[in-house]
Amino acid sequence: MATADLSAPVKRTAETPFLNEPFVDFSIPENKRSIEAALQKVASELGREYDIVLGGRHLKTDGKISSINPARPAQIVGIHQYAEADLAEQAVKAAREAFPAWSRTPATERAAMLFRAADLIRDRKFEFCAWLVYEVGKNWGEADADVAETVDFLEFYGRQALQLDAATTPIQYPGERNRLRYIPLGVGAVIPPWNFPFAIMAGMTAAAIVCGNTVVLKPSVDAPTIAAHFMSLLEEVGLPDGVVNLCPGEGPGFGSALVAHAEVRFIAFTGSKKVGLEIHESAAKTQQGQIFIKRTILEMGGKDAIIVADDANLDAALDGVVASAFGFNGQKCSACSRAIVDAKIYDDFCERLQARVGKLVTGDPVENAYSGPVISDRAFKKVMDYIEIGKSEGRLLSGGAAVKTGDEGYYVAPTVIADVSPKGRLAQEEIFGPVLAVIKSQSFDEALAIANDTEYGLTGSVYSGSRERLEQAAREFHVGNLYFNRKSTGAMVGAHPFGGFNMSGTDSKAGGPDYLLLFTQAKSIGEKLG
Ligand code: NAD
Repeated sequence: MATADLSAPVKRTAETPFLNEPFVDFSIPENKRSIEAALQKVASELGREYDIVLGGRHLKTDGKISSINPARPAQIVGIHQYAEADLAEQAVKAAREAFPAWSRTPATERAAMLFRAADLIRDRKFEFCAWLVYEVGKNWGEADADVAETVDFLEFYGRQALQLDAATTPIQYPGERNRLRYIPLGVGAVIPPWNFPFAIMAGMTAAAIVCGNTVVLKPSVDAPTIAAHFMSLLEEVGLPDGVVNLCPGEGPGFGSALVAHAEVRFIAFTGSKKVGLEIHESAAKTQQGQIFIKRTILEMGGKDAIIVADDANLDAALDGVVASAFGFNGQKCSACSRAIVDAKIYDDFCERLQARVGKLVTGDPVENAYSGPVISDRAFKKVMDYIEIGKSEGRLLSGGAAVKTGDEGYYVAPTVIADVSPKGRLAQEEIFGPVLAVIKSQSFDEALAIANDTEYGLTGSVYSGSRERLEQAAREFHVGNLYFNRKSTGAMVGAHPFGGFNMSGTDSKAGGPDYLLLFTQAKSIGEKLG
């Protein structure tokens, strides 16, 4: 594999075609050898200590965060510094000091940083995959998808920033020269979740900085190591000190202090509904000395449904439901947690679903098992509690228990509960684990009504052979990301701009043409000629 030459000029322009990063085919022996070698290399680096990075300075704190491998909780993936709430002041100061120079850096240079970072990630793809395998329990394919999406975000936002830089007013008023400049907002807080710890963390950070903002990045305590590696990549490509300041810390302590800081102009958050709403509320409160209205970009949870109509291709629907519900153990915001199946095919569907789910292999992601662990002991207990609720609300079809592997990993068998009422807790609350509720519908109209009947509105799929029904769903299925005859997960940057309705968030549409606007404010300049 060629290695990126950081001293060579970056050739991409706004017009360079964007292509989604291809996924690795691990059935090719060379790729299999590469991931195995990377897993071995990374295994020898587990347990290292990483620093807080503020204004280019590397700092240590007395308190530490241990990131562990959820497949083997005794294995420490990385030791990180623990930012207390009072460090928010210093972190914001570092970002503020870097802002004047970075905000005036030409867009071409800012975009070049993203392109260079993308090149380095491509070079080290297998290694980044390996970190994801160890830190959050992704199997090889899931880890690769996270890395590929990271590359896509960097490439896409780089191009978008160049396009935005060339923007102008739609009209030139006679006798004037009219300009429209999309200028940065200022200092931002970037608060990602643990489940796409590379793509979402790097994507929100990249979008913010490519527009000229400077940020404090607070990764999830469950996945700080991948963020630390991204930070060192940014240092390697020459990102000026203080543009990104890395501060691992807890949400309720450091995170909330950051959100409440009077000089934090915007918050880019992805995570749960509960925390998103807390951030929304805190950001709305004007602090002493605050001279702007804070902007929040909040992407939150989901209770995503797949509708299987009576005219669906059942094999395709089963493939889609299983992949959407159990890929990465249901720990995707876009995961299918409700299959709404027409009464005419319901029994057949349940029987075939049970057979398929029963065959899914649970085991160590290092060995590329289909189902790995859930992220933490807390998640494990939550999922097991929901399984008990499910057993009382419906009929257990598959799974329903923990899986013991000998490593004390947080494994839960892929679980299907059939005959769930649309109003049941299993059909309404986000579980964020390998638990699927199957709900019977009496008609396509009723299926749509059930699908829409939660507080969320993130993703959804419809399997049907009828154009009329698909068009009805296009009008009536109220979700930010709707798919027909394909799974509800796996949004591709550029093709499926991503973000949800209602309690799923502010519908920011990451990976879409309007995303960067959220990180800018437009300045209109009119000059009289002559
Ligand atoms: P979470 O809400 O628990 O945490 C997300 C981030 O917020 C973490 O960095 C956490 O430390 C921080 N945080 C927690 N409390 C905070 C506070 N009071 N102030 C500031 N920051 C705080 O979510 P999670 O468990 O990391 O991720 C899973 C959730 O994320 C699920 O609900 C999932 O649906 C959602 N998610 C949504 C999307 C999307 O695009 N809509 C994508 C991925 C994940």
